[in-house]
Amino acid sequence: MVLDSPMTSPHSDQLLARRCAQICREYFKGKEITNLLVVRWGKPWKTKLGHIKPLRGNVQYGSIIEINTVFQDPRVPQFVVDVTMLHELIHYFQGFGSNHPRKHRHPHRGGSVTNEFREFGWVELLKKQNKWIKENWVKMWKEHHAQYKLSRIKA
Ligand SMILES: [Zn+2]
Repeated sequence: MVLDSPMTSPHSDQLLARRCAQICREYFKGKEITNLLVVRWGKPWKTKLGHIKPLRGNVQYGSIIEINTVFQDPRVPQFVVDVTMLHELIHYFQGFGSNHPRKHRHPHRGGSVTNEFREFGWVELLKKQNKWIKENWVKMWKEHHAQYKLSRIKA
């Protein structure tokens, strides 16, 4: 595995992957991971909490979910990470960045992700996450971004 971010540690990637597996079992009963799914911490993106992409550009190789490294901060509640993971897994099972049959033309068209949250009764969780992001994100991102830039310079 290539560690492309100084803030990434294999240990915490492992914990994140384990959480993803738990979420799959708990929330996506009966749905299957049908290719190699890599889960790891990404970068301290400013406007993106996470993403899912084909692994090396091809879903036949697998899929990769990356979660914003700012969420490694112990002040970030678990539900904030969980909702982000849920969001990316919804994309996965709707066929975006994965080898599942594609359910829509565009990943967010017509609120397709939010609808799925509603359908499964996760709206309160989603609202809680939105509220937390609104109240904490900018300040926390700025702290981490400054640190990240510094560590890139030192490396
Ligand atoms: Zn999305």
